[in-house]
Amino acid sequence: LHRVPVDLGEHAYDIEVGYGLRNQLAEHLAPWNKGQQWVVLTQQAIFDIYAPVVDSLRAAGFNIHPIIVPGDESAKNIRYAEQVWSEMVELGCDRSSILLALGGGVVGDLGGFVAATYMRGIPFVQIPTTLLAMVDSAIGGKTAVNLAAGKNLVGAIYQPKAVLIDPDFLATLPRRNVISSLAEAVKYGFIRDVSIFETFETRFDDLVALNDEALLSEIIAKSCAIKAAIVSADQFENGERRLLNYGHTIGHAFETLEAYQGLYHGEAVLYGMKCANFISHHKGLLSKADYLRAKAVLDRFELPPLSKMAAEDILKVVAHDKKYINGKLNFIVLDALGNGLVSTDVTADDITASLGEVA
Ligand code: NAD
Ligand code: ZN
Repeated sequence: LHRVPVDLGEHAYDIEVGYGLRNQLAEHLAPWNKGQQWVVLTQQAIFDIYAPVVDSLRAAGFNIHPIIVPGDESAKNIRYAEQVWSEMVELGCDRSSILLALGGGVVGDLGGFVAATYMRGIPFVQIPTTLLAMVDSAIGGKTAVNLAAGKNLVGAIYQPKAVLIDPDFLATLPRRNVISSLAEAVKYGFIRDVSIFETFETRFDDLVALNDEALLSEIIAKSCAIKAAIVSADQFENGERRLLNYGHTIGHAFETLEAYQGLYHGEAVLYGMKCANFISHHKGLLSKADYLRAKAVLDRFELPPLSKMAAEDILKVVAHDKKYINGKLNFIVLDALGNGLVSTDVTADDITASLGEVA
């Protein structure tokens, strides 16, 4: 079992990572169980497979109620937040009630938002069931619902009491979903921890096949530790947290423009990292040797081909994102493997040149 302490002062908590953790939830949660109501927020497809997890808590004496929300991104809507708040009132939930978010990023984001707001805030616990949630969305305290005008426009920063990660949940996910989420793990290797990058270099096949439990647990725990450290240093996103945008500036443009072709988020980010590395090298920051090592790893991910996109359309999306970062394009580059930094002099021409890398 890996234990990753998250150092957030009075909001400090632990992330635990271990195969089989889901069969020991009652023990892990027992210290908080004072006979109050527990709500498990989840989706039908997850509940169909993992109802025994809820049953085991009930059998251990927890006063537990599943609440099911839609199985896709549409659940991240104020309508479903209201539905869950109302169900909780009917169940008699009060400020001592605890919400468990059992699912991927959608359930975690909605669940965290509901927990942050129900009776001005109740404790919640993240039990992520997708790799994206295990290495990214369950850590950092960002919670949100979407508006028609855009994703994640309404939310709160709200920390869980614990994050309990059992990588065994990944066995029931489609392979493409898991592999694309490894993009976020390799991202931490590029920006912060060269040992993660080297694991991808030497153990790529074992990682994508999920066939080495110790290796996967270690990569997840290291990823959590890095995100937790960056977020603790910068909970409200002014400085260091921007490093997490590595691969995401151009990646997000690919994702937006490919929305209907169904490019996964992680796949778009992998393409975005290829461009960012090209730019890093092109600007004389990343050595040729490091650039080629990075490229060799990124090329091993089997990515669906990108459809033809005009550079000007990509630049338009990038320019739109840029508004959110103090009016300046803050672009994350590498000056070595394992070291990301913010650059404010990446130009439209640099981005256009990098597109050749992925065309
Ligand atoms: P998701 O939550 O939509 O889950 C993908 C699908 O897999 C869903 O249909 C779900 O029901 C199903 N599923 C989940 N676990 C399963 C399992 N173990 N077995 C079988 N099926 C399972 O997708 P996601 O990629 O985890 O999350 C995406 C969301 O995360 C987006 O809304 C994004 O905005 C958000 N996000 C949030 C943050 C953050 O910091 N809060 C960071 C990144 C992404
Ligand atoms: Zn991402």
